[in-house]
Amino acid sequence: MAPSHTLKCCKRALNWVPVLFINMVVAWSYYAYVVELCVYTIPNNAERISYLVLFHIFLAMFIWSYWKTIWSKPSSPSVAFALPRAERELYEKEQRAEVQQEILKKAARNLPVYTRTAGGAVRYCDFCQVIKPDRCHHCSTCEMCVLKMDHHCPWVNNCVGFSNYKFFILFLAYATLYCVVICVTVVQYFIKFWTKQLPDTHAKFHILFLFFVAALFFISIVSLYSYHMWLVGKNRTTIEAFRAPFFATGPDKNGFSLGFKRNVAEVFGEQAKYWIFPVFSSPGDGHSFVTRLVHIDPEQANSVLQQNGKILMDGETNLCMVADDVPHAEGNSKEKTDGGQIVVVTVNSEP
Ligand SMILES: [Zn+2]
Ligand SMILES: [Zn+2]
Repeated sequence: MAPSHTLKCCKRALNWVPVLFINMVVAWSYYAYVVELCVYTIPNNAERISYLVLFHIFLAMFIWSYWKTIWSKPSSPSVAFALPRAERELYEKEQRAEVQQEILKKAARNLPVYTRTAGGAVRYCDFCQVIKPDRCHHCSTCEMCVLKMDHHCPWVNNCVGFSNYKFFILFLAYATLYCVVICVTVVQYFIKFWTKQLPDTHAKFHILFLFFVAALFFISIVSLYSYHMWLVGKNRTTIEAFRAPFFATGPDKNGFSLGFKRNVAEVFGEQAKYWIFPVFSSPGDGHSFVTRLVHIDPEQANSVLQQNGKILMDGETNLCMVADDVPHAEGNSKEKTDGGQIVVVTVNSEP
């Protein structure tokens, strides 16, 4: 076996250490809660059963969403975004950056791509040899381009992006609730052990420790969960929160924001019955996104809607031309001075 291959295998195995750690903590918390608390400590049968039912409901939801976050393969750009063979060969042979850009611009002409690099160039991945769709980024850990990439998460050993962002949010939500259930139900026994109202048994160590660990995890997870809920409300990925996406009009942090209700639906879908379950319900295919400000001709804006299956015919979506009443984006003052028309895509889901 070549040394580089062995090194790669070792690295891959090491990447699972944080996941293994979480699994071990959850397995121990299960033992501590079910055996040490419910079986050995709680004297009342009704209390024991109600705690066990509540605990298992949240544990099941937590494990289900965690599992889906880990095992959902990140989605990568379709072949439509790959350079055709002839263009690719031309691109690779070419030394001059401006000619390379011309090749990319020509290839991107029929693609629903609105974001550019900070220098205004078409975004291209040299590793995957694809034109990057909007919100897509190359992950060096996964060694692939990931659609609507949010971040690479070591705790799930997977990229969080279009294919599993909803699962990731639910994983954080159920992990928070799992910790809340433990803290709220354990606290009275924690106090009893602490104040020596209960005898020193082997359950004491587990229950004291269980409360501390659950409280500690609660604090760290709830802050991450709140941050991601804020991002969902803004329709912004973690990457976009740190570096605003560049449009033809300049950088715009709120470029993909369509209003709170619509932003939430972009992750969770339109049907409320799917919101609390880790089943895929995000709209679109991850290759194109409706933007708040599309500084291009309506025909191109239409192509995004078409890709997303949101074309005008269903009457849900409409394009309207506005000028001065456009809510201006943070850090984007160019949109007014450019002289061109600003096309705002508004989506109205109200009946
Ligand atoms: Zn790539
Ligand atoms: Zn990754």
